[in-house]
Amino acid sequence: MHPAVQRIYLLFADFVDLLYPTLCVGCAKSLGFNEGVLCTKCRINLPETYQHRKPYNDNLLNKFAGKVPVRFVTSFVYFKKGGIVQKLIHKIKYKGQKEVAKEIGCWYGYQLASESELLTEVDLFIGVPLHKSRLRQRGYNQADWIAKGLSEALNIPVAEDVLICRKFKDSQTRKNRLQRWENVKTVFSVQDASKVSGKNIALVDDVLTTGATLEACAVELLKSGCKSVGFITLAAVNR
Ligand SMILES: [Zn+2]
Repeated sequence: MHPAVQRIYLLFADFVDLLYPTLCVGCAKSLGFNEGVLCTKCRINLPETYQHRKPYNDNLLNKFAGKVPVRFVTSFVYFKKGGIVQKLIHKIKYKGQKEVAKEIGCWYGYQLASESELLTEVDLFIGVPLHKSRLRQRGYNQADWIAKGLSEALNIPVAEDVLICRKFKDSQTRKNRLQRWENVKTVFSVQDASKVSGKNIALVDDVLTTGATLEACAVELLKSGCKSVGFITLAAVNR
């Protein structure tokens, strides 16, 4: 296929995908009537962390030890390069599929509701904010859409625009932990402290890597008088 034709074909495929996401994101087979996002086989094979069943003694919580007081850390699945989870995150972040973010947030929300007491005292979900130029480019904040899914399952409200991203940060991808922290520590701020004061908050994000971004957000929320902060992510790098 001529490269120009191939490019048009791929653009068209993305466009169709956006309108009719009826193929499994994991294996590209057609989805059945009762399946959404993933086919049953891919859904069963997701590398779930089950972190919410053991939230106080695991390596995810240890990422924040001595840095910021965090009430809990939990993640739906583990992130592995080249796996299904990377495909899901790619769809959510770069292919406009915010509904996929909501759907998976909802799956995890129901699991949290039935298997864990973690969220019983949480008053508010807050998605890790994007800088407004990134938001304009993407059209939505994927973390807010994950939070909307969690909210639907758990009946806990989402607060958008309370926490804001003031500075455009460089990509975190090629930075080590210290560089990531330097990159994000002055980026976030709370718009209206009265909306978080005295509240138990669950911060929501797509991927937990070093935790520098979540930590920077938590520091600001705690400075603004929130009672406690916990973290929920769709995926977590297990190292
Ligand atoms: Zn599949």
